[in-house]
Amino acid sequence: MQVPSDGARLVPSDCNRYFDRMQPDAHDLFVNEIYVSLQGESSHAGLPCVFVRLTGCNLRCTWCDTEYAFYEGKRRSVDDVVQEVESHEVRLVEITGGEPLLQKGCVTLAARLQEKGKIVLVETSGAQPINVLPAGVIRIMDLKCPSTGECDKNDWDNIAHLNAKDEVKFVIGDRADYDWARQIMERHQLPQRCLVLISTVFGAIEPRIVADWMLQDRLEARFQLQMHKYIWDPVARGV
Ligand code: SF4
Repeated sequence: MQVPSDGARLVPSDCNRYFDRMQPDAHDLFVNEIYVSLQGESSHAGLPCVFVRLTGCNLRCTWCDTEYAFYEGKRRSVDDVVQEVESHEVRLVEITGGEPLLQKGCVTLAARLQEKGKIVLVETSGAQPINVLPAGVIRIMDLKCPSTGECDKNDWDNIAHLNAKDEVKFVIGDRADYDWARQIMERHQLPQRCLVLISTVFGAIEPRIVADWMLQDRLEARFQLQMHKYIWDPVARGV
């Protein structure tokens, strides 16, 4: 089943309404793909991880590398997804998208996976409330820098909900993004709240340039590369 079922394209402003209509009881999900790979980013980088990619996103970042997740997906029960995740026998699970928090079933799935003893990461844009997730879920909040074109969608109320287990990520495309990230880190005292991650837009800026800026500023953040894009084909899906 394609999303949406009537064949029309799911535009960003329709996303919340669409998923509200299609998922009244939060026991099912639109799933784009489930696969095992090495976790390429975050404090868990390098570890085997099951990725559950949910369908739909209410943003359109200029450099988005998962546009296929905007529309493609199958409707599946949370039970079915939990069963498939368990079949991979990997303790680390990341729920990602698209924007996973558009779907109510994401919260149910995160809770069910925790009950099964999984370490659950949820990667979100920071444009949806993160406090709906169960305690213990590690929220990786990808604050949108100016070059995404979606900077005005960041939900600043989320900052107050961050805890020491969470991670905030800035993906840097140019110097303006870097300066913005540095200001946001300072204004909200992010390094005192949680781990701050800095990465680069793949192919848009030399990683070394951003690394040098960080060292010059003694920036209290962890530099990271999207490891999977260096190991495998950077545009391949399911790795
Ligand atoms: S939030 Fe993520 S999935 Fe959505 S457009 Fe931006 S990069 Fe793509």
